[in-house]
Amino acid sequence: MSWQCVIGLEIHVQLATRSKLFSGAATAYGADPNTQTSWVDAALPGTLPVPNAEAVRLAALFGLAIDAEIAHRSVFARKNYFYPDSPKGYQISQYETPIVGRGVLPVRLDDGREIEVEIVRAHLEEDAGKSLHDVFHGATGIDLNRAGTPLIEVVSAPCLYSAEEAVAYLRTVHQLVRWLGVSDGNMAEGSFRCDANVSVRPGPDAPLGTRCEIKNVNSFRFVEKAIEFEIERQIRALENGETIVQETRLYDAAQNRTRPMRSKEDAEDYRYFPDPDLPPIVIDEAFLDGLRASMPELPRARATRYQQVLQLSPYDAFKLTESRALSEYFEQALSALATGQPSTRHPALAKMAANWINGELASALNDEDRPIEQSRVAPGALAGLIRRIDDNTISGKIAKDVFQGMWAGEGGADAVIEARGLRQVTDTGAIDAMIGDLLAQFPEQVTKFRAGDEKIFQFLVGQAMKATRGKANPAIVNERLRAMLG
Ligand code: ADP
Ligand code: MG
Repeated sequence: MSWQCVIGLEIHVQLATRSKLFSGAATAYGADPNTQTSWVDAALPGTLPVPNAEAVRLAALFGLAIDAEIAHRSVFARKNYFYPDSPKGYQISQYETPIVGRGVLPVRLDDGREIEVEIVRAHLEEDAGKSLHDVFHGATGIDLNRAGTPLIEVVSAPCLYSAEEAVAYLRTVHQLVRWLGVSDGNMAEGSFRCDANVSVRPGPDAPLGTRCEIKNVNSFRFVEKAIEFEIERQIRALENGETIVQETRLYDAAQNRTRPMRSKEDAEDYRYFPDPDLPPIVIDEAFLDGLRASMPELPRARATRYQQVLQLSPYDAFKLTESRALSEYFEQALSALATGQPSTRHPALAKMAANWINGELASALNDEDRPIEQSRVAPGALAGLIRRIDDNTISGKIAKDVFQGMWAGEGGADAVIEARGLRQVTDTGAIDAMIGDLLAQFPEQVTKFRAGDEKIFQFLVGQAMKATRGKANPAIVNERLRAMLG
């Protein structure tokens, strides 16, 4: 039988606001336990929640970016369940009328294929606190710093058909929320978490199978592995005649497997009802118009522009728009390069900038695990280097050495070229003299070449480049060598 797997993701995105969803308490990560906990978060009787307008704005901005309907009137609801790190006994979320309705996100896979992922909703909700099991002997500590932190939960339709598609979608949401400034997307700090719902069925026309939910996997790679494991597990179970029970499972990265955590509750178990303490959130067109006006060019539109206007390859265009900071770096480098150049040259200059940013610069950053914002070579400085290749001061090969010098703090391209004596030799007099020496040094090879052995030519070019430690202009060397060999 050929099984089809079906995946839907619920992504929890912590909003980039400084205060909680319903109290003024701070949301900075890593503070001492319970130092960022207000009476509201601790559920002191008599306290009342007050919604955070900035969180509402960020949720709506995300909604507009995925072309979703924004609810003009959305309602907070209580989701009832008992857990020690949620002192109210319920979580404030949204149920029937979330702020963000149906939207769509185009996603590009590694092989260049494109899928359109349907997002069913994105609702505002508060995060829970944390139970600390390893601080007190024989007792569990409760840290409410995270309780009440604003989240949006982004819920996709069950429309992803492989672990690869699921992760590509997850990465695209991650890229988008960071691009918009909706979230810092820090996975290690829990600002971007994903629950993956996985089921399998006998074929694409069969009804959806029973799903299992894998909770809170905290890296892209582990999400992919957890889903792959879960698909295999379910197929094996069904082929053995077992049935899948709806449950929540945990992924164990060390053993690369999932195991049951608890049976999954259904919506009715939560006894949702509108929170009587909170009025509906009302959003008018003028507010949305303001948000639309503030919307930056989105990554996908930018990648398309790079392909159409700058004639970059899809690979370069998508790489350069992986983050807003990276694409801004590229644009600054290109604008420095393009100043004073005719627009017909822009594609060639863009290609050079893209090659350097996606090549040498990316690997230097990667070696030091350094974000682009902290590049040791600024965009203007990189443009200075590329200009020296473009005007034949140095060859592309020598430029890599110059780049290393710049990265090491030896100064700008010109300073490094001068200090290290790397200027390309273009003076034909000097090149002729050098070739003259070479021909005297290799009389046998010269004779062979003159007898018609064309291979010798490359050998002589190689010797010439070696003699000048790569600094001779290769085009001139070729031309002069031919002339002097007769
Ligand atoms: P819950 O209320 O338990 O969170 P939802 O109906 O909101 O359930 O769905 C949660 C997620 O599970 C969604 O992302 C949805 O796409 C996904 N999902 C629902 N049914 C299936 C299924 N049979 N197989 C895979 N994913 C599913
Ligand atoms: Mg859910």
